[in-house]
Amino acid sequence: MITLYNTATRAVEPLRPEGRLRFYCCGPTVYGPAHIGNFRTFLLQDVLRRLMELEGLEPLHVRNITDVDDKTIRGAQESQQSLSAFTQKWTQSFEADCQALGLLPPHVEPKATEHIPEMIALIAQLLERGKAYVGGDGSIYFRVKAFLSYGKLSRLNRSALQTQAENSDQAPNLADEYDRDCIADFALWKAYKAEDGAVFWESPWGRGRPGWHIECSAMSMKYLGTNMDLHAGGIDLCFPHHENEIAQSEGATGQPCAQKWFHSAHLQVDGQKMSKSLGNKYTLEDLQAKGYTPDAVRYALISGHYRQPLNFTFEALQAAQGALKRLEGHVHSYQQLAQTGPTGHEPSAPWGPFEAVHEALCEDLNTPKALGALFSTLNTLDAQASGVLAGLKTVFYALGLRFPKAESVVVPAEIQALAQARWEAKLKGDFASADSLRQQLLAAGWKVKDGPSGFTVLAVQG
Ligand code: AMP
Ligand code: ZN
Repeated sequence: MITLYNTATRAVEPLRPEGRLRFYCCGPTVYGPAHIGNFRTFLLQDVLRRLMELEGLEPLHVRNITDVDDKTIRGAQESQQSLSAFTQKWTQSFEADCQALGLLPPHVEPKATEHIPEMIALIAQLLERGKAYVGGDGSIYFRVKAFLSYGKLSRLNRSALQTQAENSDQAPNLADEYDRDCIADFALWKAYKAEDGAVFWESPWGRGRPGWHIECSAMSMKYLGTNMDLHAGGIDLCFPHHENEIAQSEGATGQPCAQKWFHSAHLQVDGQKMSKSLGNKYTLEDLQAKGYTPDAVRYALISGHYRQPLNFTFEALQAAQGALKRLEGHVHSYQQLAQTGPTGHEPSAPWGPFEAVHEALCEDLNTPKALGALFSTLNTLDAQASGVLAGLKTVFYALGLRFPKAESVVVPAEIQALAQARWEAKLKGDFASADSLRQQLLAAGWKVKDGPSGFTVLAVQG
């Protein structure tokens, strides 16, 4: 059973969906290459999705593409492209990185620009229920005062709202201040301005475009309904984005937006959030150009617990590459054992001898503990243990790492003969000769694994 920390209750709780597990993840804003900070969040969601599958929870995973907002409009204009050509380019770049990093594609990947009618309908509902109003500039605003539980997710003090709104990324321009009744109110529909160029849609309130928050409310409810099982994003989304999503979805339907909220802490550089605006970002391409594989990047990004910030360093990436190499060595040894050794038993359970890895993942997605358990199990495992390869396959699937291909290894006759001589020396109790023969084998790049009824010769990896 998976347990997870629920931001809404501040407690670790079991994940127990009634039917298919409805899982919504706020997706990327496609105005440039996603950085590895973004991917920390998407990768942790991916490990969680894989674990949900392995636990039989049948996740229905929806992750949107934000292809219209201030940043995408500005980017398209600066590159003198249409919004759709511009965002299509960055969506493809995102998908290519996702594939390289081994992220499973979500079951539904809705684009904001393809859901404008749903957003308009939702705004109309909010107007009807008195939760929204037409502002001085013709834009439609959500009336925060009309949603009494506003701030419940981030436990905002309502009197602190004004300062919070001013300090957030989405802080209104001072010029906008007079268009809304209260500074904490946020735009659901932004009336057309000349600087939007060709980007606008017709609505009952005139030309304009949706606000960022309404995009997620409309798309999540279309595909997952209200009261979805789990809603996820980076911790920066908790306020104001998720708070606003709750206000919109609950304000319009009267039903809870989501049962649980999963927020992952940031990837940092020298104690600061990795972000495009701070200029401290790395993309997958940057790291590949330095010789790191996407699997090493993936390993490094999932190696910290999701509730703790993770500091990005090249040493950590180097260590990840080394750990993967060691893992690959273990897998190759077991693959070779399966080829040459006595036939193993059928696995009794999908995780085989790696139950501790399974337990750690189920325990609030403790990926560092799971990786530790993986190595300690491998280092203490009896070579003849059953279900090792099948268990490793499950572990690799859960972590989203590519399973190394089996290499066919031919043991040269003279090596086989040395190993045979060593085995016989050992059986006779001549341990000095057995040891020296083992050293000779090792020097030639081979090792032996003994079992109850014989030995197997394995190539030393790496
Ligand atoms: P964006 O493309 O800016 O909408 O962000 C996509 C996702 O990346 C969101 O869930 C953000 O919370 C997340 N995110 C942004 N920066 C970081 C970071 N430095 N570390 C982890 N997640 C991040
Ligand atoms: Zn969202």
